[in-house]
Amino acid sequence: MTVLILSDIHANLEALEAVLDHVPGYDDVWFLGDIVGYGPDPNACIERVRALEPSQWLAGNHDWAAVGRMETDDFNPEARRAAHWTAEALSEAALALLRGLEPRVEGAAPGVTLVHGSPRRPVWEYVLDASVAMESFEHFETALCLFGHTHVPALYEEGVDGALRHPIAYDRPLDLSAGRWLANPGSVGQPRDGDPRSSYALFDPERKALSVHRVAYDIAAVQEKILKAGLPPRLAARLDHGW
Ligand code: ZN
Repeated sequence: MTVLILSDIHANLEALEAVLDHVPGYDDVWFLGDIVGYGPDPNACIERVRALEPSQWLAGNHDWAAVGRMETDDFNPEARRAAHWTAEALSEAALALLRGLEPRVEGAAPGVTLVHGSPRRPVWEYVLDASVAMESFEHFETALCLFGHTHVPALYEEGVDGALRHPIAYDRPLDLSAGRWLANPGSVGQPRDGDPRSSYALFDPERKALSVHRVAYDIAAVQEKILKAGLPPRLAARLDHGW
């Protein structure tokens, strides 16, 4: 069994299509949240993911902002403008779907917890370093927690003296069958690790094997749509640089 793990699509349809073209095959989809926000194609991305029939579809902070379940006071100005634009752009059906999403799921597969941000604060907290990762291990029971939100692919292992951050070797299965782990597949629609290519992961729940993959997409096409939609130009520029 192979599960396609997607996170932080952010209304970037070109990136989503590039990922779906690139994936060799999968039996299920788990989406870790933030389908909207920043990008120009919120409705089309929701339709595209809905057609994949994911068994797990989490809420992210941008999804909750779009449906008024979260204030945008803590968003940076561009993210706030994009959130308001998104709320206006979404269809009734899309809004209804987003309203029903939650940011944490237990039991997607045995031994697996899914969150958008962190297991401690599933909507908002960023697991960006080993110290937050170490604290995070105390807030879930399973051997593995998959998370998104940072837009940076990452792998942390629970250790006696703290969390150990492992480098990601792309396109190779990482063996997570022993120990406890926090893993982030990276972002489909707005990578922030200095590599502008889309990021996604494949997971085998029986073998507990995870692989992370990167794929280039037509950034210029998305940038043109962002500017045409009247979204902040910086949201277009950052896609070139992967931040
Ligand atoms: Zn995000």
